[in-house]
Amino acid sequence: MLPVVMYHHINSDDLPLSNTQEMMEAHLRLISERYTTVFPGEEADSNVICLTFDDAYFDFYHYVFPLLKKYHLKALLAVPSAFILEDTDIPSKRRLSLKHHEIYEEDNYKTYAPFCTYTELREMIHSSHVAIASHSMNHVNLSEENVDLEKEIFSSKVVLEENLGVRVESFVLPYGKYNDAVVALAREHYPYVFRIGNALNPSWDGIGGLLYRIKGDALPTPDSLFKPLKQVSFWMKTIVKIVKGS
Ligand SMILES: [Zn+2]
Repeated sequence: MLPVVMYHHINSDDLPLSNTQEMMEAHLRLISERYTTVFPGEEADSNVICLTFDDAYFDFYHYVFPLLKKYHLKALLAVPSAFILEDTDIPSKRRLSLKHHEIYEEDNYKTYAPFCTYTELREMIHSSHVAIASHSMNHVNLSEENVDLEKEIFSSKVVLEENLGVRVESFVLPYGKYNDAVVALAREHYPYVFRIGNALNPSWDGIGGLLYRIKGDALPTPDSLFKPLKQVSFWMKTIVKIVKGS
């Protein structure tokens, strides 16, 4: 079974969606001691884990990217492309200053630059510590009516590929929301489609369809994820044995 962990913020006021810098460092250090991190599609045998960060907030570049380099880890960053600026000279302190609920208000994504820029995304890709997923264009609930699915699911991929010069093969569903049309279109354009829980698109060779995405925000202790990971792994293996009748 391949565990996939979903994180959002570092040092945000939105505590359910955030870890502190200290907790994240202790947690990532433990991961580096116990697991090998992989990008979607990479060979996944035992003791492998996939780390995913949603929304591409600037706090990822500021706090997490240095830790990935320090501990030799890889992470998938899910980017909502409508909020990404080419570059910015806004100081880091201002970029980190918004409360979570203010980030998507009005033109704050331009006047505060609370998301990673394309310049920063390219730097992270070139470091080989970060791979990019599309997280739709506008970070909308794709299961609602009157959403332009072609634009949110497919054009978001094209925009990222043109700006970053890499293939974008993963899609992370905003809010984990979807319906049949969303899944069909996402599967058409991406080999890897993530939500919370099991994968919607088990095309990752070597994991036998066994992928499980769990929440890594608001960790109470640096090792609190490892116990549920073991339990999930145990039950997934048990279910497979029952299905296969062995
Ligand atoms: Zn999101």
